[in-house]
Amino acid sequence: SQPSQFAVFGHPIAHSLSPRIHQAFARQCDIALEYRTIDAAPVDFAAAVHGFFAAGGAGANVTLPHKGAAFALAGERSEAATRAGTANVLSRLPDGRLAAHNTDGAGLVRDLTERHRVDLRGHDALMLGAGGAARAVAWSLLDAGVQTLTIVNRTPETADALADAIGEPARVHTRYWDDLANLGSYDLIVNATSAGVLGGGLKLPMSLVGARALCYDLAYGAAAIDFVAWAKAAKARYAWDGLGMLVEQAAEAFELWHGRRPDTEPVYQALRAAV
Ligand code: NDP
Repeated sequence: SQPSQFAVFGHPIAHSLSPRIHQAFARQCDIALEYRTIDAAPVDFAAAVHGFFAAGGAGANVTLPHKGAAFALAGERSEAATRAGTANVLSRLPDGRLAAHNTDGAGLVRDLTERHRVDLRGHDALMLGAGGAARAVAWSLLDAGVQTLTIVNRTPETADALADAIGEPARVHTRYWDDLANLGSYDLIVNATSAGVLGGGLKLPMSLVGARALCYDLAYGAAAIDFVAWAKAAKARYAWDGLGMLVEQAAEAFELWHGRRPDTEPVYQALRAAV
């Protein structure tokens, strides 16, 4: 029989690591599949997705800038996708409709708690950014026991909208970007902005970094260099990039599709050596 067909949709997408990650998981689990990249401009995204699944596609990952559109076109949505309002995973249901899921938040928490052995309970966390990825990880950090979450976004209305959607005013606060120097320090600082990817630097005060703070950039590789360097200069206990999250969100998707949980560590190590 034909190997089942998977793809990642994005724009641009050529440099995506997802094919490599899913192919490595599949080899590990002895599953035959094909996994390719599909570049679709936003106006073509819905047609490209429907074409892919109509031609027998079994599942797709979705990345920038399509995560909101993927959520919108699905006929069924998981709780994680609904909370985030975005989807990074699409699966074909037996009746032909598409199911949307979001594994980004679970991926970050797994990277922190399993790979890096962090107990998130009781942490006071600061999240920079309130875009699609921030929406997914905010809920997961709270579920994992983060005590308070302060959201700061360049556009403050978006941070307020996310805090309102979460609806836990005792735990979730928003502050202004211009006020970062006056906020004191945090135990966990998550950079969920795309500033590194877009090439603009973030000017962050070192006073944000608490004595034993963990700093985490959702971006990885070159895009995370500035944030990680800032965190180290500010004497953070740890400063990580988002490569582990990338591998873990892929593992969550792989498990949804194949019912098997791959061993992520060798795949993570191979990518770490290459990125
Ligand atoms: P979005 O475009 O949805 O959101 C971008 C966010 O970055 C917004 O909050 C935006 O603020 C902010 N931002 C952009 N430029 C600047 C700047 N110069 N200064 C301050 N804030 C800025 O992107 P995503 O949420 O999808 O992605 C965010 C990051 O997370 C990216 O680096 C992406 O690569 C990474 N990511 C990593 C994953 C992984 O598995 N490791 C998974 C998903 C995402 P504003 O609202 O004001 O525009």
